[in-house]
Amino acid sequence: MKLEAGRLAVLAGKLAAAYGLPSPRPAPVLDELVRGILSQATRDANRDRAYAALRASFPSWEAVRDAGAREVAVVIRPAGLANQKARRLVETLERLTRPDGTVGLELGPGTDVGEAWGRLASLPGVGPKTAACVMLFALGLPVVPVDTHVLRVARRLGLAGQRESGARLQAKLGVIVPPELCLPLHLNLLRHGRLVCRARRPRCEACCLAADCPTSRRS
Ligand code: SF4
Repeated sequence: MKLEAGRLAVLAGKLAAAYGLPSPRPAPVLDELVRGILSQATRDANRDRAYAALRASFPSWEAVRDAGAREVAVVIRPAGLANQKARRLVETLERLTRPDGTVGLELGPGTDVGEAWGRLASLPGVGPKTAACVMLFALGLPVVPVDTHVLRVARRLGLAGQRESGARLQAKLGVIVPPELCLPLHLNLLRHGRLVCRARRPRCEACCLAADCPTSRRS
């Protein structure tokens, strides 16, 4: 079974019927980028605790940069891999420092997808999923971030090969998914992966996609 626009639209429709059509939650681009760096290899709750601690401890992203990695690592400990993430975060903020000393990323909703991708993916600690999340959530650009849940569901549905990487699936979805479907498809696949198509013991008996799923365990 291959990735095909018509089938994707059917699956997206079933997911929307089950979970609704999520609304955008626009966030400043730098905030979304920092959240993305903190979120790697940890749960959302841990990322959120680390992000809240960071915002409470420093008055600005410039202050985070100037504090240095060692001090930042202490604050973001709840996110895990704190030393590594702190180094990447400070390095990224340094890279985004303008001549006047402020930190900023000159990307907006009208930015070309390729240009945004090039800018974001070149930053330290910014992988394909983080870049895509910034593009989708902060810039409203048409990409479908693929994390571990989305990839697992896609593989079981036959939308991705068993050995296909998240980055490759993400690139393919970016071409085939209509812009207005990118956000709901991403969020609903994510939700479906967490609630129903779980890594262990998927709940096929309760799955709204079971009739379209080649690996359904529903008898
Ligand atoms: S039928 Fe089962 S394996 Fe297929 S998408 Fe649903 S929960 Fe996942």
